Amino acid sequence: MHPRRLLIGGNWKMNGDLAGGVELAEAVVAAFDPLNESVDAVLFPPFPYLQAIGRVLGHSGIRLGAQDCSSEANGAFTGDVSAEMLVDLGVSQVIIGHSERRHIHKESDALTCEKLHMALESGLQVMLCVGETGEERTAGQATAVVQRQLRGALNGLKADKLASITVAYEPVWAIGTGKSATPKDAAEAHDAIRADLEHLYDRPSSAAVRILYGGSVNAANAPSLFAHLEIEGALVGGASLKSADFASILGSAATAFKGRRG
Ligand code: PEP
Repeated sequence: MHPRRLLIGGNWKMNGDLAGGVELAEAVVAAFDPLNESVDAVLFPPFPYLQAIGRVLGHSGIRLGAQDCSSEANGAFTGDVSAEMLVDLGVSQVIIGHSERRHIHKESDALTCEKLHMALESGLQVMLCVGETGEERTAGQATAVVQRQLRGALNGLKADKLASITVAYEPVWAIGTGKSATPKDAAEAHDAIRADLEHLYDRPSSAAVRILYGGSVNAANAPSLFAHLEIEGALVGGASLKSADFASILGSAATAFKGRRG
């Protein structure tokens, strides 16, 4: 299989203000410009800033993403944002099943699955997050938890839709803690996810899915993570708020891609 470009996502979460977001996006666009043949990128700003950040991204090649969407098409759902509304704003990808939705907002596998289907029906690409907590890992349940989340979210999904899915393996204990998974542990988890996708579908359809790692990725550890072929990019939280760090991660991904191409 030809190596494909790594995908780097910047999840800004509920941080920053409008002026700072625009400035950050402008700096990311400038850093991305010389790399756009060698790396894919997507930014996930907070909902209220989507339109402004979308204007900055323009034709840069960096895609506009959203951090969540409703499982409902429209109606009396105060505070929710529909997938169609996101499409209307130029969003092309949405994060579904982030651990902060699963754990803080108690979103179930079933709701994650409904959101995933709604997003795909609306024409969005999905960044599906899965990952175990520290307690689950200690109890030896990491693989089983990730498998349950993956199967729960993909329930009812046809193989021909897999090309619109990216999976982000994000161990909860590594998110925002400064304690990244080791590249070897991450690569093993990615292998297990790949094997499960192949079991659920078939090898050619599953090959369309990129599997990213997320959890305290920064400028320093990105090269060693990307040294593993199983790791096809990163979903970056904290380090995506600093343009120099995010630019460095983009650069490491571009270098890794060139190395993989040989
Ligand atoms: C995330 O929340 O998706 C994430 C990976 O955060 P951080 O990089 O800050 O650990």
